[in-house]
Amino acid sequence: MLDNRSSLDRRQFLKTTAAGLGAAAAASSLAAAEPAAGGAKVDPKNLDWRSKSPDMAYARLGRTNFMVSRIVSGLGGGAGNQKILWPRQLASGINYYDTARGYGNSETNLKDLLKESRKDMWVTSKATDVAGYSRIDPEVSRLYVEAVKKFLGDKFDELAGGGRQNPERMDLLRFHKAAVEKQTATGEKPDLRPAGKRMAELYATKLDESLERMAIDHVDSYFLHGVEIPWLFDCGEVWEAYEKRHKAGKVKHFGFSTHKNQKEVLAAAVQANKTGPWRIDLIMPGVNPGSFESLRPELEALKKQDVGIIAMKTKGIVNRPVNVDEKKFADLMDEKKYNEWERAKLWMLHLTEGLIDATIIAMQTMEEVEKDLPMASVRLSARAQRQLRTIVKLETAGTCHLCGDCETHCPEHIAVTDMIRYHAYLHQYNERQLARELYQQAGYDPAKVCNSCGKCADACASHVPIVDLLHELSRDMVA
Ligand code: SF4
Ligand code: SF4
Repeated sequence: MLDNRSSLDRRQFLKTTAAGLGAAAAASSLAAAEPAAGGAKVDPKNLDWRSKSPDMAYARLGRTNFMVSRIVSGLGGGAGNQKILWPRQLASGINYYDTARGYGNSETNLKDLLKESRKDMWVTSKATDVAGYSRIDPEVSRLYVEAVKKFLGDKFDELAGGGRQNPERMDLLRFHKAAVEKQTATGEKPDLRPAGKRMAELYATKLDESLERMAIDHVDSYFLHGVEIPWLFDCGEVWEAYEKRHKAGKVKHFGFSTHKNQKEVLAAAVQANKTGPWRIDLIMPGVNPGSFESLRPELEALKKQDVGIIAMKTKGIVNRPVNVDEKKFADLMDEKKYNEWERAKLWMLHLTEGLIDATIIAMQTMEEVEKDLPMASVRLSARAQRQLRTIVKLETAGTCHLCGDCETHCPEHIAVTDMIRYHAYLHQYNERQLARELYQQAGYDPAKVCNSCGKCADACASHVPIVDLLHELSRDMVA
């Protein structure tokens, strides 16, 4: 049974929140069911509406035709009051729930809400630690390394460097790049079938486990979690595994999330959709106002393919002193004040020119729920948009774009991008337990492995203080 407090009547909840939403709610309107960019002609009768609220804005989630609330619920955290917050989010028109096999008890915690409201919800879960997230499955790594070693010969040893001391820690992107180079020059390919077969098995097993944990017979989409390897799309076995489960009615759409080597992974997804048999229906990249421009070409190409795009890690910014433009922006917004994180959320919701359908927004308290919900339908004048661009540009200078360049240049094969993400979980997202679990799974202390060569800093166009962050994380984790 759901907690009593969670069964708040929908109308009552909307009334309650509307009172607190003030001008923003009054100015909001239900966004029309406009098809997203990409040229697709959509018959409105084919649109899939669930849990629709007049106070929420919606967008068509690519070719899934699902009308997704522009704010969606990320269930990554272990906040204790989720069972109260989720029904309230549903009552307020949030209709997309994002969980994963690797988010602790998140899937099982969702069971009660699913029992009551499955038909009102879109559910995405993910196969964790197959193609990335806290790590690539060690057997997948081993099989891939075996294949590229055979394919690259002496070049492999040159690239392996310090990573040979711990093959599980190897940064695989550099081998992929060398393999693509050789492939282009010779037309030959590494034999990735064993690695593909292993990933396919894991995808299928984890899907069954996820369904069991949530006590449902199908998910709307089952992602590969945190894909960091562009060569995934050379492994047709994974697509076949998905298709088989799709035909069995266990999963409706294929997708993936990514927060490392994103440019390469997204470009490979565009290519996979072109050449088939892949048909990637939706994706979840880590995009924030600072990284949007660098990922724009890939996002535009995916949008043209009518892929649904949900942005995560939108708070990917570091604290800055208050700047003078804040006051100007507040004036343009009828004195309504937004802090740094909220401005980043507004930016992701309103300044991505139709490329981002929805945005994951971590809401861990009722106060956050009440403050964040109206943001999807708040109106920004042209002047307010310009002002917001100016402020957020300043605020996001020097933030991590999750590009992975630091990691590719690290002679010790430290998973630098992951470590920076764990640092963000700890210091920006208030996810101490998640950060600790992921850090422990990595199995080494980056500050001890790091030789201070500075190659990561040279590679980082954003000038992120990488080594300082690694040392801080290391200290945090022994504390
Ligand atoms: S720290 Fe810099 S190089 Fe490393 S992933 Fe972030 S932006 Fe890219
Ligand atoms: S300074 Fe950077 S590149 Fe060099 S070993 Fe440390 S983390 Fe790796």
